Amino acid sequence: MKRSIVKCGHCDGTGKCSRGDQGFSCSSCQREAGIEDRGDTNKVHCGICKGTGKILKECY
Ligand SMILES: [Zn+2]
Ligand SMILES: [Zn+2]
Repeated sequence: MKRSIVKCGHCDGTGKCSRGDQGFSCSSCQREAGIEDRGDTNKVHCGICKGTGKILKECY
């Protein structure tokens, strides 16, 4: 098994999700951050890469 670190495709490596409406974070990342149902929420940490902008990809 090989591991490589790749850029997070969800936040494009920024570590902050801007996939929701008008550049805000998507609902799933808001939920990850413990914020729900708030359309005026600022960008939260990406729930996929935990705000690091990178994800560990495992290749078998
Ligand atoms: Zn990310
Ligand atoms: Zn997101």
